[in-house]
Amino acid sequence: MIPDGVRALAERLDSVPAYVYDLPGLDAHAAAVRAALPGTELYYAVKANPDPRLLETLAPHVDGFEVSSGGELAHVRACRPGAPIAFGGPGKTDAELAMAPGVARLHVESPGELRRLLARDGQPVDVLLRLNLDVPVAGAVLAMGGGATPFGMDGEGVAECLDLLGAGGRVRLRGVHAHLASGLDAPALLDLARAVLAEGRRLGLPEVVLGGGMAVSYTDPAARFDWAAYGAGLAGLRAPGETLRIEPGRALTAYCGWYVTRVLDLKRVHGEVFAVVAGGTHHLRTPVAKGHDQPFAVLPTGAGQEVSDAPVTVVGQLCTPKDVLARRVPVASLRPGDTIAFAMAGAYAYTISHHDFLMHPKPAFHYVT
Ligand SMILES: *Cc1c(COP(=O)(O)O)cnc(C)c1O
Repeated sequence: MIPDGVRALAERLDSVPAYVYDLPGLDAHAAAVRAALPGTELYYAVKANPDPRLLETLAPHVDGFEVSSGGELAHVRACRPGAPIAFGGPGKTDAELAMAPGVARLHVESPGELRRLLARDGQPVDVLLRLNLDVPVAGAVLAMGGGATPFGMDGEGVAECLDLLGAGGRVRLRGVHAHLASGLDAPALLDLARAVLAEGRRLGLPEVVLGGGMAVSYTDPAARFDWAAYGAGLAGLRAPGETLRIEPGRALTAYCGWYVTRVLDLKRVHGEVFAVVAGGTHHLRTPVAKGHDQPFAVLPTGAGQEVSDAPVTVVGQLCTPKDVLARRVPVASLRPGDTIAFAMAGAYAYTISHHDFLMHPKPAFHYVT
């Protein structure tokens, strides 16, 4: 399952831990996603992974970038100058709102935020209202909508915004935005799309953003989101004159990243085998954050006492029992010095991790090109 280029690089790294990004793999994946979405606009949700090389690889395949903070906005402006940007996220500061002129779209989170935007003067800003629809999001891994959450607005909030915007002016209402749940398959996301689109039509707004949240399976890395079914479904829902836009993060970049490390110590404690690797969840917090075993490949670079055909728990160097990357995973053979390449570390991986805990060295970043 590990691409040849990643394997070759991982085996000859003289310093670990490191992140290895498979740029040709990302390029091919993004091209396939783009091709499956005829007539639907595609933005990449930068918070999944803001690495400039990933943004560069994605750029030819996406219509723009969705950012969730002033920091991400400045980053994308610096490394992808001129690329269309959608600026969302709860709790925008006045300083962040001041950065809005020039973005393609600003996603308004609340009537209070809109009031602060209207109170500013300056260049025009094109906005979408972020909806929090009361629709069921059963099966979702994370729910940002479908009930009381801090994201977006219910009907009352939307009505208040429409009143505030009534007079027209420099803040121009273009449509609605929703990002209601994550971890959903194509049929479930199409159900949500129908509900969001119906609300856009009810409000007479022809531009509708459906968010991200396409499912990624960490237990079955080969199982992929059905982009073809989703793209065809969206094409069928869209009426002439309407714009539909999606903004996936995880399902675009998760697969291209590998966290590569080596086994420092292999030990048996009270009957259970532990492989202690260089680094840990302070570089790759994803398995702890999501409560899964991070899938991995073993590359035989080691020597010494072998453990064979045993369930192995892979832990990092942190002095906490939470520093577990994978639990009781059967491995055919493992030795100290073997390289372990954790798959699916391209999204919500390094940037969500607590890098400074215990002051271990930071990983290096390498790119297969
Ligand atoms: C995080 C986020 C996304 C991307 O979600 P994924 O689950 O990574 O696809 C899209 N839109 C908004 C508003 C987000 O906050």
